[in-house]
Amino acid sequence: MKPPPFEYHAPVSVDEALAALAETGPHGKVLAGGQSLIPLLNMRLAAPSHLVDINRVGELNTIAARPGGVRVGALARHAAVERSAEAAAVLPLLRQALALVAHPVIRNRGTVVGSLVHADPSAEMPAVLALLGGSVRLARLGGEREVAAADFFTGPMESAVEPGELAVSAFFPAPPPRSGTAFQEVARRHGDYAVAGMAALVTLDEDLRIAAARVACVSVGPAPVVIDLSDACDRRPAASVPWDAVAAAVRDRIDPDGDIHATAEYRRHLTGVLAVRALKDAARNAGTEAADE
Ligand SMILES: Cc1cc2nc3c(=O)[nH]c(=O)nc-3n(C[C@H](O)[C@H](O)[C@H](O)COP(=O)(O)OP(=O)(O)OC[C@H]3O[C@@H](n4cnc5c(N)ncnc54)[C@H](O)[C@@H]3O)c2cc1C
Repeated sequence: MKPPPFEYHAPVSVDEALAALAETGPHGKVLAGGQSLIPLLNMRLAAPSHLVDINRVGELNTIAARPGGVRVGALARHAAVERSAEAAAVLPLLRQALALVAHPVIRNRGTVVGSLVHADPSAEMPAVLALLGGSVRLARLGGEREVAAADFFTGPMESAVEPGELAVSAFFPAPPPRSGTAFQEVARRHGDYAVAGMAALVTLDEDLRIAAARVACVSVGPAPVVIDLSDACDRRPAASVPWDAVAAAVRDRIDPDGDIHATAEYRRHLTGVLAVRALKDAARNAGTEAADE
């Protein structure tokens, strides 16, 4: 299948990209890795009359890992972020989640920021950003703004990016000391979008009891669903947390839909199971990830 006709723009700098986006307004779309946009065009589910291809904008191809977190530029491919030892040292969750995003060929082209903007409720990286309380930096001709994850994902396949704006980077903050993370999902085949999935973050206190616990659920709502489970974990060590109650708390907080892959009831059950698995992994990882400090 062929896409509808469009005018092609190939800027080589952010300024040129912003000028093209300002000129084309609601008729322009950014082309990053193309792994979601090109299928949409070919299936004629989107028909922008201008494509602004950012693949030659080298200044967007950045991964900056600092003790406080990792800032990923708009041209950083999934695979590059997954392989970055510096990023994994600050935030192991990036690598844990990216290993589950599609297949290697798609990760070689697809970008982390593109995945955030695309805002598929079944995608892993929006859940990671939401779990960590990260943000996306949006630039337009003459200004920029930083949008918190809580305000960024506005619906299924909808994000806060306005016509004329380019998402230039995303910031994934590092969790507090003595924290561990994990990602768990069930997909029909490895690399498929998840039937249900779960990013988890656990922070231990000095006595190795769970001081804080949070999950971000995938594929169970219009956007990632973040649930604070600190109270449900009851400030106990992982070995004596009432895990059945934790699973019940998760099931109570979600309202999944059924589809050809799973009934709503199955998805709700699965999400509770995955939450417990991911939180146990995260608590275990808090021991090793904390030891690296
Ligand atoms: C077979 C297959 C399986 C997949 N499985 C998964 C999976 O399991 N999990 C998962 O998370 N993803 C999956 N994906 C999607 C993949 O991760 C995409 O790479 C990603 O969703 C979009 O990134 P992209 O760089 O390709 O964006 P593009 O396809 O280029 O763009 C996607 C959308 O975001 C906009 N956009 C992109 N970058 C910017 C920017 N910097 N500023 C403003 N707007 C921008 C575009 O205009 C477009 O609307 C799969 C894709 C395929 C083809």
